[in-house]
Amino acid sequence: MVAERDGTALVPGSYDPVTLGHVDIITRAADVFEHVIVAVVNASVRKTESVFDVDERVAFIEAEVAGLGNVEVKPFSNLLVEFARENGASAVVKGLRAISDFEYEFEMNQLNRKMAPDIESMYLMAAPEYSFLSSSGVKEIATFGGDLTGLVPAQVASRLQEALKR
Ligand code: ADP
Repeated sequence: MVAERDGTALVPGSYDPVTLGHVDIITRAADVFEHVIVAVVNASVRKTESVFDVDERVAFIEAEVAGLGNVEVKPFSNLLVEFARENGASAVVKGLRAISDFEYEFEMNQLNRKMAPDIESMYLMAAPEYSFLSSSGVKEIATFGGDLTGLVPAQVASRLQEALKR
């Protein structure tokens, strides 16, 4: 039985590029919430430059969620909690991988809670098969021409190989 879905949630990230781990989290969030907005970081405070520009990162995700009727993909360049308010979202959903994500997410949670106690952050545990999958790991594999099957969507794999292969 599927419970009635309610509310809007953001699923934020830099998605450079989207992986099947991200797609799993987005799909599971879409099972729980009435409306899901995948929020793609445009201007990041992180110094490292992205491989794909924001339009391309958005397009990769759109291709993967096209079959889900309640998911849309939007870039954002302001504070996540502000973007949540602008879009009427009451929750932020994040994926948690094996141990490594916890400390960072714990800190971000405290900061976001202070700024916006009305927006709840929720965490979905990574599926076992994706627990050690990250965008940065995928980029490293692609740099050396490794096989990305089962890690990223096929379209992303070929674009990434093109972009990074030495
Ligand atoms: P990454 O950390 O791989 O560069 P992002 O910054 O785009 O990815 O991450 C966006 C969100 O997706 C974060 O909440 C992150 O914890 C989550 N996430 C990333 N990869 C996975 C995965 N393989 N399984 C579950 N959640 C993930």
